[in-house]
Amino acid sequence: MIKVHKDFEAIPRHLNQKSAKKQTLAAIAAQDGNMYVRNYKHSSVKTALSEIYHHKCAYCESTITHSAPLQVEHYRPKADVDKKDLQIGEIHKGYYWLGNEWSNLLLACQNCNGKGAKGNRFPIAGVRLLNHPNDVAHYSILHEAMLAEMPLLLNPELVDPLDHLYLDQDGFMHGKSDCGDISIEVYNLNREGLRTRRQTIINQFFRALNNQLIELFNPLEPLTPDQFQRQMNLVFKKLFAGRKPSVEYSFVYINIISNFDSILLPLIEQEFQPIINRSFQIYIQTQIP
Ligand SMILES: [Zn+2]
Repeated sequence: MIKVHKDFEAIPRHLNQKSAKKQTLAAIAAQDGNMYVRNYKHSSVKTALSEIYHHKCAYCESTITHSAPLQVEHYRPKADVDKKDLQIGEIHKGYYWLGNEWSNLLLACQNCNGKGAKGNRFPIAGVRLLNHPNDVAHYSILHEAMLAEMPLLLNPELVDPLDHLYLDQDGFMHGKSDCGDISIEVYNLNREGLRTRRQTIINQFFRALNNQLIELFNPLEPLTPDQFQRQMNLVFKKLFAGRKPSVEYSFVYINIISNFDSILLPLIEQEFQPIINRSFQIYIQTQIP
């Protein structure tokens, strides 16, 4: 998960139409979030979200494909809140006033968003808003009453997930905060398919670095120190290119770079670690403008 930039003022056309507003008023009158039908998942909304999210899931960063199509996800669930997240005896009909609300819509894959994952989960640490307070300002999830709920699920449009999550060398995600820990559990971010894809990226760079070491110590034709650094620069260049938000699992590349000592270096045989680390430091220095 990485931070994304969303312009909350650039509302897609189909969320601003009269029909969308009518639906919202009807859902509020009936207190029923199931009354939203077409507008929030219209292609204009999907296209806008796909551009913002670079065709990746907001939570796990898997690229959305035909086999795993995109879904417009309601950050605050529109028609129900899972009992697990409510106080005993508390009844919640869902955030039925946010079905067509641009600030409440994200792009997610079925594995993060479906049953057994986020579904209707919405744990909070603050004061739960149970009903619509009859004030249009409350349509935005940036309203102070919404923020006072203190959601415990990371929303990459509002916070930087790097402040809440980190990766280990096996591709497991860990929390740096309650919000991070709970998001890993609710979005199911350590599911095996996802973990192995993250580990594959880590291993790919481990092998690339190791291959350069083999060349450096090749008894027949060893690389000179300059040749070695040039080769290593090519590997590091690929690693740094992975930070682009359009790259699938860019969070992994960002973590490898910022936690090089704990993710990639321990995979290298101990006696060669100083050589690799020195080469990495040389590369970083050439990147500073
Ligand atoms: Zn996902």
